[in-house]
Parts: sequence; structure tokens; C-alpha cells
Amino acid sequence: MGGSGEAAVLVIGAGPSGLFAAAELARHGVHARVVERAPHPHHQARATALQPGTLEILQQAGVLDRVLDASERLAFARVFQASDAGLRRQSELAFAGVGCDWEYQCCLPQWRTEQILADRLAELGGGVEHGVSVTSLTERDDGVLVELEAADGTRRSLEAAWVIGAGGAHSMTRESMGEPLAGSTYPGTSLVGDVQVTADLPRDGSALIASPAGYVLLAPLPGSRWITFIGDLSDAEIAQLDDSASDAVAAAMGLRIPPGVLQVNDVAWASAFRMHRRVADRLADRRRFLLGDAGHLSSPFGGEGLNSGLHDAHNLAWKLALELRGRARATLLDSFEWERQAADRHVLQVSDRLHQLAYAAVESARSGSPAAAPARPEDVAALVRARSMLDISYAGSPLVGEWLAPGTATLPAPVPGDRYPARAGMTSPRHALAFFGAAAEQELAWLRRRWQGIVDVDPGSGDPPNAGLAADGTVLIRPDGYIGFLTTSADHAALSALDDHLNGYLVPGAA
Ligand SMILES: Cc1cc2nc3c(=O)[nH]c(=O)nc-3n(C[C@H](O)[C@H](O)[C@H](O)COP(=O)(O)OP(=O)(O)OC[C@H]3O[C@@H](n4cnc5c(N)ncnc54)[C@H](O)[C@@H]3O)c2cc1C
Repeated sequence: MGGSGEAAVLVIGAGPSGLFAAAELARHGVHARVVERAPHPHHQARATALQPGTLEILQQAGVLDRVLDASERLAFARVFQASDAGLRRQSELAFAGVGCDWEYQCCLPQWRTEQILADRLAELGGGVEHGVSVTSLTERDDGVLVELEAADGTRRSLEAAWVIGAGGAHSMTRESMGEPLAGSTYPGTSLVGDVQVTADLPRDGSALIASPAGYVLLAPLPGSRWITFIGDLSDAEIAQLDDSASDAVAAAMGLRIPPGVLQVNDVAWASAFRMHRRVADRLADRRRFLLGDAGHLSSPFGGEGLNSGLHDAHNLAWKLALELRGRARATLLDSFEWERQAADRHVLQVSDRLHQLAYAAVESARSGSPAAAPARPEDVAALVRARSMLDISYAGSPLVGEWLAPGTATLPAPVPGDRYPARAGMTSPRHALAFFGAAAEQELAWLRRRWQGIVDVDPGSGDPPNAGLAADGTVLIRPDGYIGFLTTSADHAALSALDDHLNGYLVPGAA
């Protein structure tokens, strides 16, 4: 390696966020360069849960079948209390009825998720340059000057028009923006491991075992394995992890789980970790974007960190692709920061709530007092929907809006900015404009010509209420499956408002 080069888009890091960004960009017709410091893909379980709302976007991206084939399906999240008498089930959250085609979490090792995404990227003509580190980034007027270093020490520089920073918690891109990961670190050190155990636990869900000595979380992985979190570790337990992972896991579980309930047979990998609640104030500047752990860290009790990195990538890819085609106004790329800040902050709140519930279960095991958990059915349903990541909404974003016919009071849910309920079936990289009822034909024909190649205009199928309409009107669905604009009629005034909306962030073609 030596000399200099150019790239329209450089992705830094081939973790889940970077790989999905590159694969999604490729699906939208943009071939990004991807550099990854590690010489080879890893083989660690790390983050394992994929949430129902993420399965929808993986379906849009064309990889869901592979994920489903490779995963265990978890339809329940259960809490057990451990005592000398054994385990007693304390609570159970069920994903059934959450309102999506896949009412379960998928559980698979992170290396397998990354392999599926890397395969998809390769199918679409892309690839990863392994063993290449970014050592510095300097902003220029029309791009970013990036210094790269290969594993053999050779250096080269690269001019990138756009940089996608997906380098994880110690992101060099974020550092180059002078942006700290503001927030806090939860007390205590925990252990994560990929284990094979003999246990009398159902494999259709995760099990949080709360005992006076701490917690053990177990969730089934393919091949009769389990991912486990154990907390909080004493200094002696942390020290033992350095000597022998197998002994450390067995001893830590033995302290927290009553005898006879579980036997550890094998430990493939184990590591100590801390949990954080952090987010950068800026997730983007003019030419740089922060995706995944580079921009935010949430408690693993939510199982949303990897997922939210995928949602970041999904949000950015179509916008950047339109920018590169010369069809975007500045508002479009600016909206990444607005929309993902709101969504990522919501993820931090939800995962913090789940974190607190787990610790409340441990406290209850210690004190014997009942654990504080949501009891009202509507609160339980809202919590399951939130942890499923089906409640992400961009309502209020500069990229969404509505036009209400005179006399229309409010719109039923879903509202502009919400996820379109049937989005999983929408695999086109273009916007979809669906109209219901009588429409002004001339204006529709004009809209079709003006937005050709970016917006498909078709009669709506299914019920208008599914699209957020009481009856007649139009719904504009963005390429990421969120509702961009709603009108409560399809007459001249409504279609003209719709055109104004599109013109606010997209550049029309010839009409
Ligand atoms: C114990 C534990 C359990 C978790 N469980 C879950 C879960 O069940 N579900 C979930 O959604 N999330 C979970 N998470 C969170 C999840 O692991 C992360 O959110 C996720 O890995 C972030 O992906 P990423 O691609 O943003 O970053 P990373 O996975 O950190 O990938 C970043 C990549 O960038 C590369 N890189 C870094 N710097 C450079 C550079 N300068 N040049 C080139 N390459 C570089 C790195 O080598 C790395 O491959 C868990 C986290 C922990 C700690």
C-alpha cells in the first residue's frame, strides 16, 4: 500500500453497522469502500439478539431468510427467582401480539450476523479490506482526508467525499469531530460468555435468574449453546477470568444459581465488560456520520445496541445514495442527525428501563420484597413493543409532514414519521406514493413525471386505516418504510402540498 486515492464513500469498520451501511448503500446503487482494522473476521458471539423491528428492515434488505435459518427464536423473556429451593418463575413477557410478522427475537452469534451481512455485500459487488486501519481524519472543504495504515505498516492517504464512522465505541471518526460519548457508565463489571450448559430451562425464551448474589442471564444460541451475562463480578471473579474462562464461568454461575439447576459443560468464549448509557451530541457533521457504537452505547439488557446501529445504517443509506445521484437537497442528509438522535436516545431510555428491571429483580431476591415490574396490560404491551423496536418514530422530523383537508380534525395512528405497518414487504429503493379513493388524474400524471426514478405512484392496496388514513387520501412511504407524508384527499390542493413536501428535500427531474 502507498500513495493516495479517492473514494466517494468510505466506511470505517466492518462490524454490524459498517457492513449493513455498505450493503444497504450497494442495494441503493452506491459502492462504498470498507476498511477494517482486524485482519480477519472474528468468531465471537458478542451481541446476539435481533429485535422484531430489525427483522423487518433485514427483510427489506434481502437477508432475513438467512437470519431466520441461522437463529434460535425467542418468543418470551422470563425472570426467575433463585433460592435454596430452586428456581421460581417471577414474570414472563411474551412477544405474541406485538404487531409484526415476526413476533419473536432472533438469537444468533454476532459473527454469524456479520457473515450474513458480508455475504450480502459481496453479492451486491462490494467487499471489505481487512487489516487496514484509519489513523487520522482531517476535514477539507469538499471531503475528508483519511490516513490509512496496512498491517505491514505501509501508509497511504485517501480523499473521501463522505465518511461513515462505524468503528465502535473508540471511533476515530468521532474523535476527529471532537465529540465525546456523553453519559454515564453503570456500576459493576459483568461477564459475557458463549456456553454449553445442561439446564432445565425452556429454549423458547431468555431467562434472567435473579439471586441474592447477583444475576445470570441465559438466552439460547443455535447448536444447543447459550449466551450468558453474569453480574456483578467481584475482583476475585474478574481475576479468575484471566486464568481460566471455564472455571470462572462455572464458579460465577455456581454462586448465583442453586445446586442441581444447571451444569456448565463448555465455555467457547468469555469476557468481562462494563455497561454504558452514552450518546454523542452530534451524530453527523458536514461530511462525517457516526453509526452504531461510534455514536451511542446502551445497556445490553435492552439487546438494542447492535440493532440500533443497523437502523442508523438503514436510515442513512437511501439518503446518501440520493445525494450522490444529485437528487437531494441539504435537508435530506441533515435529517439523519435529527432522526437518529431521537431514535437512539429512545433506545437508551428503553434499555435503561430494562436494565433497572433486571436489577430490581436482584434486589427483590435479596430483600424478599416484590420486584417492581409493569403490571397493567397496556404498560406490559408498550414495554414489549418498545423492546421490539417497533415504536421507533420520526414524527416531528423535518422530513415528514401532512396535509389535512379543511374540517379534518386529526389523523389516526400511524401518523407521519411512524413505521408503515407493511414496510417489510417494501424492497424498492424508491419512495412509494399510494393513493386511495378519487384522485386528480392530471396532477398524478404530473407528479409521476416530475419524480420519476425516485417516487413510484400507484393506487393503494389494503385498508386506508393501515396507512394512517380514515378513508381517502395519499400516503408517501419513504425507502426505509417510514411514513413521510399523508394527505386526507388526493385532489389538486393535496397533491400540490405533497409536491411541495418532496421538493423540500429532493430535486425533481424534468416534469
Ligand atoms: C456483552 C454485550 C452484549 C450485547 N448484546 C447485544 C444484543 O443482544 N443485541 C444488540 O443489539 N446489541 C448488543 N450489544 C451491543 C453490541 O455489541 C454493539 O452495539 C455492536 O457490536 C456495535 O456494532 P458496531 O458495528 O457499531 O461496532 P463494533 O461491533 O465495535 O465494530 C466496529 C469495527 O470497527 C473496526 N475499527 C475500529 N476502529 C477502526 C479504525 N480506526 N480503522 C479500521 N477499522 C476500525 C473494529 O475492528 C470493529 O470491527 C451487546 C454488547 C455487549 C458488551
